[in-house]
Amino acid sequence: MRPFVVNGEVWRVVRVPAGDPSLIDRTDTPRLATTDPATRTISVLESVMPPLLDRVMLHEAAHAITVSRGLLGRMRSVVPTSAWVPVEEWAAQLVEGHAIEAVAAASRSLGRPVCVDGTCMGQGTNTT
Ligand SMILES: [Zn+2]
Repeated sequence: MRPFVVNGEVWRVVRVPAGDPSLIDRTDTPRLATTDPATRTISVLESVMPPLLDRVMLHEAAHAITVSRGLLGRMRSVVPTSAWVPVEEWAAQLVEGHAIEAVAAASRSLGRPVCVDGTCMGQGTNTT
């Protein structure tokens, strides 16, 4: 998989086999993918394929964005330490499950692609 850049920081994406230690998250739970902010590496289980792979990458990219955009510190400043992990996971799940829906809704309303910071997405059509 190709690397991507968020706010000038390069994130590497690697496919790893089942049992790879990189798939163990900070709660000692094995996952389909993990995001390591220290190395800016996203590790994805090599057997994960589309369409699940797309959701997994949206989720992990959301984690990367919270790190590279400085949102993680802000998020942590408004919730108790015991809620950091659940809140971080909730934010990633929001993006994973609903980012495309939000882009599609805004694009339909505008009647054109949605453009933010030079990146445009959506068809602008109003099909249901
Ligand atoms: Zn997560």
